[in-house]
Amino acid sequence: MAKPKVAMYWNASCGGCEEAVVDLAEDILKVVEAVDIVLWPVAMDFKRKDIEAMEDGEIAVAFLNGGVRTSEQEDWAKLLRRKSQLVVAFGSCAHLGGVPGLANFYDREAVFRTAYHDTASTVNPEGVEPARSTKMPEGELELPEIYDRVYALDQVIEVDYYLPGCAPPPDLIMEAVNAILSGELPPKGSVLAPDKSLCDTCDRNESKPDKLELTELKRPHQTFMDPEKCFLAEGVICMGPATRSGCGERCINANMPCRGCFGPTDEVRDMGAKFLSALASIIDIRDPEDMEKLAESIPDPAGLVYMYSLATSLLTRRQAEEKVAA
Ligand code: SF4
Ligand code: SF4
Repeated sequence: MAKPKVAMYWNASCGGCEEAVVDLAEDILKVVEAVDIVLWPVAMDFKRKDIEAMEDGEIAVAFLNGGVRTSEQEDWAKLLRRKSQLVVAFGSCAHLGGVPGLANFYDREAVFRTAYHDTASTVNPEGVEPARSTKMPEGELELPEIYDRVYALDQVIEVDYYLPGCAPPPDLIMEAVNAILSGELPPKGSVLAPDKSLCDTCDRNESKPDKLELTELKRPHQTFMDPEKCFLAEGVICMGPATRSGCGERCINANMPCRGCFGPTDEVRDMGAKFLSALASIIDIRDPEDMEKLAESIPDPAGLVYMYSLATSLLTRRQAEEKVAA
């Protein structure tokens, strides 16, 4: 019997999701035995024309990591959507826009200005920026269009399932692969991780006092972090109350607070707003001046609470809706 065809592709991402596949260690041999990999640019030499030549729906499942920032990435996402029965948004950037989505606080012009002109390490006396088309003695060079913002995958194509995490952990990847191979899949649109908050599964939760009342916030380097105690109870911002569990508390076990890479649980529409409301409920300050001082003690608060989810947040939803409508 023919093995199911599987494609893996990367868009706007750092490559960590590709590493996560390698982190399957010996389990990767089971995957390779069970499926026929037809696309995996980081590891194997397949070409776009190989995919274009396939029948629509011929690929059983495409795992796409990374957000969509360029016209080339959008073309690939649409091509793989057409050729695949299932599309899985793999990792935080495909799921929510991820860290590259933080650029959505700015437009393309501002990003170019910083990257190609203003940074201390930039040497660019002619002020060259990426252009769609550049005439060279050898001919005309073409580059994909860089969009004004980063899109999560489901803002560009229909997505069947989401594998969360920066990067998704090996046990969740294997569970997803096994579920797909056995056909025992949850309802379409599901996030393939428990629908509980990280605090619900975190061992430190029990160390929280019954009533939390914070009067100051500290950054990790400004305090001793007791490896037994809840970060929030110690005044260190931890996104656990607004984050889906399933990562195995990776950061917490390394004595670092959660930054929210698994995204929110199903009931939460906006992760940053959910966390801010949880935080506001435990702040015990009445004086407006003291409150201002507390707010100032968090550098880049929006970047902190939307570190992985800005592209899908209510803050930038309108831009994304315009894209879907276009
Ligand atoms: S806030 Fe962070 S440290 Fe505290 S219980 Fe939740 S996940 Fe654990
Ligand atoms: S603790 Fe938070 S940031 Fe760290 S891996 Fe888990 S969900 Fe991601």
